[in-house]
Parts: sequence; C-alpha cells; structure tokens
Amino acid sequence: MSQAAPILLTPGPLTTSDRTRQAMLRDWGSWDADFNQITARIRKEVLNIVHGTGTHECVPLQGSGTFSVEAAIGTLVPRNGHVLVPSNGAYCQRLAKICKVLGRRLTTIDYTEEKQVSPADVDRALAADPTITHVAVVHCETGAGVLNPLHEIALVVAKHGRGLIIDAMSSFGALEIDARRTPFDAVVAASGKCLEGVPGMGFVVIKRSTLEKCEGNCHSLSMDLYDQWVYMEKTTQWRFTPPTHVVAALDTAIAQYVEEGGLPARGGRYARNCKALIDGLATLGFRSFLDPAIQAPIIVTFHAPDDANYDFKTFYQEVKKRGYILYPGKLTQVETFRVGCMGHFGDAGIPGAVAAIADTLKAMGIRQVTAAEPA
Ligand SMILES: *Cc1c(COP(=O)(O)O)cnc(C)c1O
Repeated sequence: MSQAAPILLTPGPLTTSDRTRQAMLRDWGSWDADFNQITARIRKEVLNIVHGTGTHECVPLQGSGTFSVEAAIGTLVPRNGHVLVPSNGAYCQRLAKICKVLGRRLTTIDYTEEKQVSPADVDRALAADPTITHVAVVHCETGAGVLNPLHEIALVVAKHGRGLIIDAMSSFGALEIDARRTPFDAVVAASGKCLEGVPGMGFVVIKRSTLEKCEGNCHSLSMDLYDQWVYMEKTTQWRFTPPTHVVAALDTAIAQYVEEGGLPARGGRYARNCKALIDGLATLGFRSFLDPAIQAPIIVTFHAPDDANYDFKTFYQEVKKRGYILYPGKLTQVETFRVGCMGHFGDAGIPGAVAAIADTLKAMGIRQVTAAEPA
C-alpha cells in the first residue's frame, strides 16, 4: 500500500477492522440460505445486545440510519398520532423534521445544545397534553455529544402509557439500553456506528406486541417495517434487494464485538478514548464544549482556537495529512470542531491524533488555542 488510509475520528462512517473489510470480498445471493442465515444471526445478536430476546423483534432495513428512523416513526406512529420530540440538537431536529414530512402531528420541547433533555419536562408535557401518542428521543445527541437521560425519560413515558421511539444510532452497543428495565417501543441504530460495521443498513428493535399492531400505519411501501418483518418471518429473506456486502460485514463486526467482550468492553474502550482525547487536547489548551457530567463517550465538541490563523478547512487538511480525519462542528452559535471516540483503531489512535493536532497548530502558527469563556 502506498499510503495508509487516515484514521476516521468521525461518528460513522468510521474506521473498521481488516477482518470486517475482508468480509465484503465475497458476493452473496439474496435468496441463498447461507446468506439468510447471516441475516438471522444479526437479528438474534442485536436482540441480545439490548436483552430483548423473546419480547422484541429486530427488523433490519436498507439505507443509512436516518432511513430506519423515518421507517420507525412511519411504522409505529399512526397517521393521526402526535409525537413529542424533546430537542437538544441537530439529530433531534431531524426527528422533528421527519414527523413534519410524514404529516404526523408534532410538539417539541426546545433546549440549547449544551443542555440535557429533562425527564421532568417530558413528564409535564405528557400530563398537559393527552393527545400525544409517542415520544421520540435521541439517546446520544451526536450534534454536540450530549448523553440524554434515556432510562429516566423511558420511565416517565411508560408511566403516562405513551409510546417511546429511541434514536440510539450513536450509542447502540456502547452505552447500555436494557429492554428488561428500560421500557421502549423501538430502538433505532445502524451498521456503521458503535458496532463498527460499514454504513448501508439500519435496524429497529421493536416490542413485538407493538409491532403486531402496526399494519397499515406506514405511508411508504419500502419503509414499512411491519411489512419487512412479516415478509422476513415468512421467507427468511429481505423484502427487497439487501445490501449483501454490508450485511456480511456487520455479521463479522458483531462477531468481533462479542469476542471483545460486548457492551462493557466496547463502551469501556470508547470511554478511555474519550478521556485520553479530552485530557490530551487540554494539554494543548483546548476546552471541550460540554459539561463533563453530560458528555457521552462517543464524540467530543471542542472550541476552535481563538486565533486569526485558524480556519477549519486548513486545520482539517493539515491534520488529515498527518493521518487523522476530524469532523466539523455542528453548533449554530459557537465555532467548534468535533472528534469521535469510536471506531477500530488501537490505543495509539487518540495519542496519535493529539500529536497530529499539536503539530498542525505549529504548522499553522496558531498560538491562542484557548477560546475566551463564552459570555
Ligand atoms: C448517525 C446518526 C443518525 C443517522 O444519520 P445517517 O446520516 O442517516 O447515517 C441518526 N441519529 C444520530 C443520533 C446519529 O448519530
């Protein structure tokens, strides 16, 4: 190889292992029994991760993660349903937008991006409006990196007897969601995030008793998870052409996930990466954007250097030359950049990235790294 590919410090697509990439070097027929066993194995393993075996169903879907979020809302929320979205960032706003596009009635509770969603606010909103049928929440808000208090929110929603749809895209497999103690109707995630597969498919874990009642809700043929489920149960096959190579890669990625030690090991590795990243960049003068108490160990937002020589594009290119791909900030008010803690890179990955950033600061002549305290 002439030049090693850079390490992706991004929240999906992310750096995958050689073994996962190797799994894509074979073609599979979608009708083939061997392939359909792979699908069955993924569905079973995904249920294991959330302890949903026997009570829940895993319905996979082609497309990026958003496709599965949209499919979950379209399939679970009846057309005259009413969705509450507590919103503290870009992915919450996407949930809200999906509801609008699908013509589902929508109410939001709006927070600024450095705040957690408050279970007490959800409680009040549900008490005040009995027409709300579902709550849709983001577990880890990848926009700024906030961890929302999912378990507490789920208990509030269950107390009011409403449905709960969780976008757990950037947390599934790394941060605990236990169906035996956290009540929910649907958890949505995808292949190319914490399970460290390649992007191209999502999956929705749905409470079976809920799913059984979802026939005819969906506005869309290809996004109908009820139909996908019924067809898959009957035939073992995907309803329409599956992303075969992505499925094979996810199967191999999940095998490595289990070998690594499952959720505690994966979450532990990301937490170590997150700490090494925040501590390492602090030695260069960088301040992370969030209160550490609500920081998810998935992606960290940093204030951009407060220096006339800084611009993100050059910074990005210089760090890339040194072997690491960063991520732009997604905040509206302050200039930031983001660094992901997820993906298959060894313990040297984060220290290497910190060194690359230190070197880049020198190359760009940036001296004033620590931004002024926000007013
Ligand atoms: C990645 C992500 C998604 C899905 O985004 P796609 O671009 O469709 O893959 C949805 N929600 C959250 C919280 C995410 O991190």
